[in-house]
Amino acid sequence: MKKILALHTGGTISMSANDLGEVSTNKENPLLDSRFIDDNIELTNEAVLNKPSEHITPEDMLVIQKRVQQAESEDYDGIVITHGTDTLEETAYFLDLTLPNHLPIVLTGAMRSSNEIGSDGVYNFQSAILTAAADESTDKGVLVVMNDEIHTARYVTKTHTTNVDTFRTPTFGPIGLVGKRGIHYFQELIQQTVMPIDKLKHNVYLLKAYAGMPASLLECLDKADTNGLVIEGLGAGNMPLETVEAIKHLLADQIPVVMVSRCYNGVAEPIYDYPGGGIDLERMGVTFCQGLNGPKARIKLLIGISAGLKGQTLRDYISNAVS
Ligand code: ASP
Repeated sequence: MKKILALHTGGTISMSANDLGEVSTNKENPLLDSRFIDDNIELTNEAVLNKPSEHITPEDMLVIQKRVQQAESEDYDGIVITHGTDTLEETAYFLDLTLPNHLPIVLTGAMRSSNEIGSDGVYNFQSAILTAAADESTDKGVLVVMNDEIHTARYVTKTHTTNVDTFRTPTFGPIGLVGKRGIHYFQELIQQTVMPIDKLKHNVYLLKAYAGMPASLLECLDKADTNGLVIEGLGAGNMPLETVEAIKHLLADQIPVVMVSRCYNGVAEPIYDYPGGGIDLERMGVTFCQGLNGPKARIKLLIGISAGLKGQTLRDYISNAVS
């Protein structure tokens, strides 16, 4: 018998649509009454939050993290977290970076609300429970299960506004599948260092570069109050010429600046050696973060800074996507 704890936080999976198709949060999460029809799995439901995921803050992520940590000493074999899909990847990655992952931890959500035709919520919830209960799911890091696919929290991203097949790992695909007769894994995840944190720092920002981006967007950051900045740069990690001086000023004020790519696929690497090119930016002190998208690099920078990392130690933590 496997004991699975389901922590519910809200999102479309727990919402309902009215006659006009307008979707909103229910007062009480309907998933709290879920039963699992399997003699080998005992399911316990618990509400941690009941919010759309756009309202989830890093403080909420810490609340979820602390509840998961507590559950590790409560004799559960696996944990499922239901969550809105809009920021699911950020909460999943937050947990992945800060929890030792002794237990399988699986996040899921839905693209169609609980009373819509073809609602994917109950199905995804069931797939997540089966994944959390599978022995093979231990030591895989935090997982995201949607639409029969198992993705790592580290690299999964929401790619479509409404389609049920929205969660993808662009660079190398899912690490496993939920089959009709069980869970199948095809890839191993490289282990990473766990960064335990108790409190969060604030004011770590994310900006996206574009052709003609003015320096003023960077200059308007209050330097005294900015703890870090992630930029989704152009291509492999390059910036418009106009922004280079402003980036130098941030670095001179000891504000960590982290570069990822605004491209949907691939990794950011310093390749071009001209003003604003990646090599130029790296020479200035910009840290390249491989393989993470902007929102996840921001979560990692926030956690590194909140853990008290500084200077080269922070740069080493950020630059290696797997440790
Ligand atoms: N807006 C919803 C949320 O993130 C979307 C969803 O759950 O699919 O809460």
